[in-house]
Amino acid sequence: MTDDQVRASYDAVVVGAGHNGLTAAAYLARAGLSTLVLERRPVVGGACVTEEIAPGCRASTTSYIASMLRPEVIRDLDLRGHGLKMVPCDPALLVPFLDGTAAPWWSDRDRTVRELEKLSPADARTFVRVDDELKKLARYLQPFFLEPPPDVSARGVPGLVEALRVGRRFRGITGREIGRMVSFLTGSLGDFLDRNYESEKVKTLFLANNVYGKHGGPYAPGTALGLLFHLLSGGEHELQGFYGHVLGGMGSITQAMAAAARGFGAAIRTSAPVTRILVSDGRARGVVLEDGSEIRARVVVSNADPKRTFLGLVGERDLPEEFRRAVSGIKMDGPCAKVNFALSEEPNVTAMPTELLKSERALFTLVPSLDFAERSYDAAKQGLVPEELWVDCVLASAVDATLAPPGRHVMTCFVQYVPYRLRAGSWELERERLGDRVVARIGEYAPNVPNAVVARQVLTPLDLERTYGLTEGNIFHGDLSLEQLFFMRPVPGFAHYRTPVEGLYLCGAGAHPGGGVTGAPGYNAAHRVLRDRRGV
Ligand SMILES: Cc1cc2nc3c(=O)[nH]c(=O)nc-3n(C[C@H](O)[C@H](O)[C@H](O)COP(=O)(O)OP(=O)(O)OC[C@H]3O[C@@H](n4cnc5c(N)ncnc54)[C@H](O)[C@@H]3O)c2cc1C
Repeated sequence: MTDDQVRASYDAVVVGAGHNGLTAAAYLARAGLSTLVLERRPVVGGACVTEEIAPGCRASTTSYIASMLRPEVIRDLDLRGHGLKMVPCDPALLVPFLDGTAAPWWSDRDRTVRELEKLSPADARTFVRVDDELKKLARYLQPFFLEPPPDVSARGVPGLVEALRVGRRFRGITGREIGRMVSFLTGSLGDFLDRNYESEKVKTLFLANNVYGKHGGPYAPGTALGLLFHLLSGGEHELQGFYGHVLGGMGSITQAMAAAARGFGAAIRTSAPVTRILVSDGRARGVVLEDGSEIRARVVVSNADPKRTFLGLVGERDLPEEFRRAVSGIKMDGPCAKVNFALSEEPNVTAMPTELLKSERALFTLVPSLDFAERSYDAAKQGLVPEELWVDCVLASAVDATLAPPGRHVMTCFVQYVPYRLRAGSWELERERLGDRVVARIGEYAPNVPNAVVARQVLTPLDLERTYGLTEGNIFHGDLSLEQLFFMRPVPGFAHYRTPVEGLYLCGAGAHPGGGVTGAPGYNAAHRVLRDRRGV
């Protein structure tokens, strides 16, 4: 069957072809279910796409680094065989400073230690100790990625089984480690760094990849969790703290997933927005498309975020009021933006160490200090666009020349801390001003950039919502704060991919374990569906 020959009924309909919807579809089709994926956009991929931003210039318009894509998903779906190729980012991070120095984080730990020694010998020693400790703690959390979160409501024998499952994961953990784990889950990144390091530059290097997409400045409780999250393993070789460039851009991941799903027999239709999930007698029966057509299904699996799914696609009367209230309370309010550039020259970052190879100059993060980051969150919290922005830049064409024609370069820039709701004005009016501020910011560190801009695409939180379907522009389908994680994601009582509507499942980043390009929610949701069919 081709994608165009859509039937009237399926075993499973997946709403949305984000990477999690595609992952779920591939596993369901592999298990023999007739499966259809319906995507509102003309392309598959959701927030994991490669798109043309200027003639011949292709960018990872939204997500841009693959760090936690599950090795099991890569293997099971043979994503390599379907064209996926990732290369480690090395350095994984580089923070240039306006005084002409730079702090890189190399995948070779000894090399990083040598770099840190230049900034503070004491910090270099602490780094090794803390890195070992964090890696050990992250290993306890790792298995929960491809497992449902603990079911705290299970009683009797199921409760015992659940306690054993969770207990087994923490076997051998010491009292001291439990204390450390709790402090990483609840404490602030800023306080942790202040307690352990003396050099502001070293602290800023740690800050640079640890609170992305989240609410809260580095001194907000719960921000230390990022330190553990980023040490969860990913990539083909299951490396802890893996950071990868994807050749062909992030869209190569979802193109490979779509090919895998089709290979297992799934059909995928794009430009096919679902307007309603059909429910009768408390059971999902199928979907209605924008063109009015109906497709019946035994199960409906939604890759749309929880608010879009339960407040937009399911009828008000089909859900308990308490559940709807809990869903409306999910914190979204996306705090970031993205600006993608086509450039005529490679950025000439003044502080970039001269000995670096072209591919080693591909990423640099512009954030001068923790205080700066805290101030910028405070401004965004009040609905203001900070005057000076925190910008994470990746010159993707320095690693993959196929992304731009000769004489052109593609740079994607993630902007941390802008408000979804502006205190005054509208994003329609502020969009280009945001773009100008990003250019000005980069110009402070790489003076040739402002004159090298050939084209730019500014994606405000509102654009992330309108174009990519991310409610309130939240890149993770809901903030990754402790009260919205584990058995509380998307809302307490419904963390196991099932919903109050029988036969309706949630498979996107709004479900456990959350956002990022991992494939984990899609994998877990598909396995939940398959177990429910078998009655286990
Ligand atoms: C700017 C930005 C930068 C990011 N950077 C990174 C990064 O570098 N690394 C990383 O790991 N993660 C990053 N992320 C986060 C990551 O991309 C997302 O958390 C992840 O891609 C979510 O995947 P998903 O499949 O769950 O949902 P989505 O990708 O949101 O997919 C949901 C799909 O459902 C579709 N849909 C919604 N409603 C309907 C409907 N009614 N009918 C049909 N289709 C529908 C949408 O169009 C979309 O295609 C970033 C995200 C953004 C936006």
